Amino acid sequence: MLEAKSIKKKYGNLEVLKGIDLKINQGEVVSIVGASGAGKSTLLHILGTLDKADEGEVWIDNQNISLLKDKELSVFRNQKIGFIFQFHNLMAEFSALENVCMPAWIGSSELRVQSSELIIKSKSILELLGLGSRINHLPSELSGGEQQRVAVARALINSPAVIFADEPSGNLDSQNAEELHNLFFDLRKQFNQTFVIITHNEQLANMADRKLTMQDGKIMQSSEF
Ligand code: ADP
Repeated sequence: MLEAKSIKKKYGNLEVLKGIDLKINQGEVVSIVGASGAGKSTLLHILGTLDKADEGEVWIDNQNISLLKDKELSVFRNQKIGFIFQFHNLMAEFSALENVCMPAWIGSSELRVQSSELIIKSKSILELLGLGSRINHLPSELSGGEQQRVAVARALINSPAVIFADEPSGNLDSQNAEELHNLFFDLRKQFNQTFVIITHNEQLANMADRKLTMQDGKIMQSSEF
C-alpha cells in the first residue's frame, strides 16, 4: 500500500534522512518514535507528499508519487491522504461540519449547496466520533479533545488510503489522549484504515502493530507486536 525506497533528504549540509526503506500494508497502524531531530517529521512530510525527497521513491496505492507534478500531487494528496497534526489546524470561522467538508469541497468543483451527499457523510462521521451534538459549533466552542476528533473526521472525509499523524495527542490530557488513541484503532477495525503515527506517547507507540525507531536519519529498529 505504501512503500518508501532509499529515501534521502538534506537541508544544506545536514543529512536529515540517510536512506529510508519502508513498507506499510493496508490496515496497518505503524508508529514512529525517536529523539527530537531524528528526522521523523521530515520522513512523514515526504511520505505525505508535503515535501520531496532528494533521492528515492515513494509509492502509495500503486502509484509512484515521486513522478507526479505539483498539480497532480495536490489532487493525489487531497484524495488519498489524510493528516492529523498536534495542533488541530481547524479553521476558526467555520463550524465543525464545515471543517470536515473542507477537503472534499477543495477537491471537487461541486458548489456547496449541491453537496448534500457530502454533508450527510460528514455528519455521519462526526456522529461516529461522538460529535453528533457538536456539528454546528465553532472550534472555539469545543474542548481540546473534541477539536482533535473534528480533525480526525476531516482526515477521514475523502476515505484516504493512509492517514499520517504527527504527535496527534501531544496537546491533549491523558484521558483525551487515550480516547483518541482508541479511536484510531476503532477506525482501523471498522474501515481497515491505515495509520502512520509519530508519537512520544509510549502507550500509543506500543499499541501499534509495528513501532519504527528512528535515530539520526535512519530506522534503527522495527518492533512488531
Ligand atoms: P524530528 O521530527 O524527529 O524531531 P525533524 O524531521 O523535524 O526531526 O528534523 C530533523 C532535522 O532536520 C533537524 O535537525 C531539523 O532542525 C532539520 N530540519 C527540519 N526541517 C528543516 C528545514 N525546513 N530546513 C532546515 N533544517 C530542517
